[in-house]
Amino acid sequence: MKSFKTQSKRVLDLMINSIYTNKEIFLRELVSNCSDAIDKLYFKGLKEGLSGLTRNDFAITVIADKDKRTLTISDNGIGMNKEDLENNLGTIARSGSLAFKTENADGLKADDLSVIGQFGVGFYSAFMVAEKVEVYSKAYGEDCAYLWVSKGTEGYDVLPTQKESHGTDIVLYIKPDTDDDNFSRYLEEYEIRSLIKKYSDYIRYPIKTEVTEHKDLTEEEEKEGKQRESVKVLKTLNSMTPLWKKSKSEVTKEEYDGFYKDTFFDYEPPCKQIHVSVEGSVNYKALLYIPSKIPYDFYSKNYEKGLKLYTDGVLITDKCADLLPDYFSFVKGVVDSELTLNISRETIQQSRQLKVIGSNIEKKIKSELLNMLKNERESYEKFFDNFGLQLKYGVYSGFGMNKELLQDLLMFKSASNGKYITLKEYADALGEDDKFIYYGSAKTVDGVKNLPQSANLLELGKDVLCFTDEVDEFAIKMIGEYQGKTFKNVLSETVLGEDDEKINLENKGLLDEIAGCLDGKVAKVKLSSALKNRPVSLSSEGEISIEMERVLSRMPNGGNGVKAEKVLEISPCHPIFEKIKTVYLSQKEQIKDYAEVLFTLSSLSLGLEVENLSLFSEKIIEMLAK
Ligand code: ADP
Repeated sequence: MKSFKTQSKRVLDLMINSIYTNKEIFLRELVSNCSDAIDKLYFKGLKEGLSGLTRNDFAITVIADKDKRTLTISDNGIGMNKEDLENNLGTIARSGSLAFKTENADGLKADDLSVIGQFGVGFYSAFMVAEKVEVYSKAYGEDCAYLWVSKGTEGYDVLPTQKESHGTDIVLYIKPDTDDDNFSRYLEEYEIRSLIKKYSDYIRYPIKTEVTEHKDLTEEEEKEGKQRESVKVLKTLNSMTPLWKKSKSEVTKEEYDGFYKDTFFDYEPPCKQIHVSVEGSVNYKALLYIPSKIPYDFYSKNYEKGLKLYTDGVLITDKCADLLPDYFSFVKGVVDSELTLNISRETIQQSRQLKVIGSNIEKKIKSELLNMLKNERESYEKFFDNFGLQLKYGVYSGFGMNKELLQDLLMFKSASNGKYITLKEYADALGEDDKFIYYGSAKTVDGVKNLPQSANLLELGKDVLCFTDEVDEFAIKMIGEYQGKTFKNVLSETVLGEDDEKINLENKGLLDEIAGCLDGKVAKVKLSSALKNRPVSLSSEGEISIEMERVLSRMPNGGNGVKAEKVLEISPCHPIFEKIKTVYLSQKEQIKDYAEVLFTLSSLSLGLEVENLSLFSEKIIEMLAK
């Protein structure tokens, strides 16, 4: 007997000892594997031009035998050879949901099991209801068949066996009933019918089971007092219409949500579903979902964007990346289209039809999001909390190419009330003479609010957008202007009035001296009365702001040494100005210390890193001691 791999063992343990109440989902899992196996063979047939594989020949059967207490689930799909049986059933597959399950399988509590059950739990779920499982399988095109058999955690065996045609029969030896669980119900015709209807109605191949039918008696037979004869006939139970092929009015919210949870392994209903049917130059149906939470692996390298692509009901690829732009990578869903199918999986991704569909889908997602913003503000804000960052990256990484598409979906927190505001809302509230959309960068909304420059603007009744994500300012630079208004960082260099120009000229010698002492750290030193009673402040001129410099410096290449052109602004209204003027006249050699302290203090107040903090503190002490 062979042992299961450790990871598999853990999940298997969970299944066997499951106190999870929703054990009935095992049937959905096994049937969905059958459907996948048929898809694989059907697709292979199309691709390689194999004869004798027409759609109508494929079926899944579910047959109960009450005497033997077995439930047999069969398909005539691609089947498994010896290695497949070992690899697929001996080791747990490494799909995203499974990786999640196994990583979290340690220390699981009973409550967590219901969470797991919402994911695809896969083949091992058979052990929730069966004490022994036999898998008879013959791979398509091979001569030998094999039997995989296991009673659970101890291990499994793989033996040669006989099987006539390709495909797989899974025989479950149903557990005896217990006080808590009535396992026998899985052998009842009624139960099987209702489970298939409930969970597997949209499977695209017929799922057949034996149904008892009573033959009608002829008049003569009735006269003779004969009993009605019952016969078992194979009947197809599922409607075989996938959800996305139904019209919107035919689908309930429960069905939409259930399909989403089962297919995309989420345990929360989606934030929004988008169901479209398009006829025109290309024909397709799509069922798209926006998750209500950030997928657990969304910001990891493993996350792959893409939509499931079906053509005429057959799954071509699980994740067609070309159908979704990166900024909508959080969207999950299915696209079913009548594409020409004599091409391989690789080339289908390049096809022109697909490009048209992709661009239609992109527009559709945008318009649905705009609708949500307009009509369901609260939901939109939640959506934006989750995926807004992605949209901002979209604006930035397209070098502004996507700005038309994305700019109206962006929101920032307003410094005046801490609530989200869109660019349009900000711009619409401006008067004709207002030229700027102000923004400030900091880690938090309060951080922006507390920048003295923001406070000044807020006092004047102007709002300031809070840029709290690193990408914000970079993205906004790509947009440039909005409704004719220019974006302006509150920390950009103050524009001087006439009076200021005058004092700056009068004190040119002092200001040049300070700039010289700072050794290239600043581009300019100037006096600005707008600072009022704040002694100093650091601003920047040109395209790169101080915040941008900070973000860039943390990049792997250190931002190629790109620096902001910093301006040290000093308030002529503050007593410190009088002090440095005196020092400049009487003890010029000390001006360097003053220059450095003022520069360092203003850097610190912006949260910037300071080169030699201990030297700085020594200098402060020295000056205090004087
Ligand atoms: P998943 O379906 O999420 O990959 P499962 O545990 O359900 O995980 O199944 C593991 C693997 O076993 C499948 O990926 C598939 O390769 C194989 N398998 C399971 N059932 C069948 C079947 N009926 N026919 C062919 N292969 C199957």
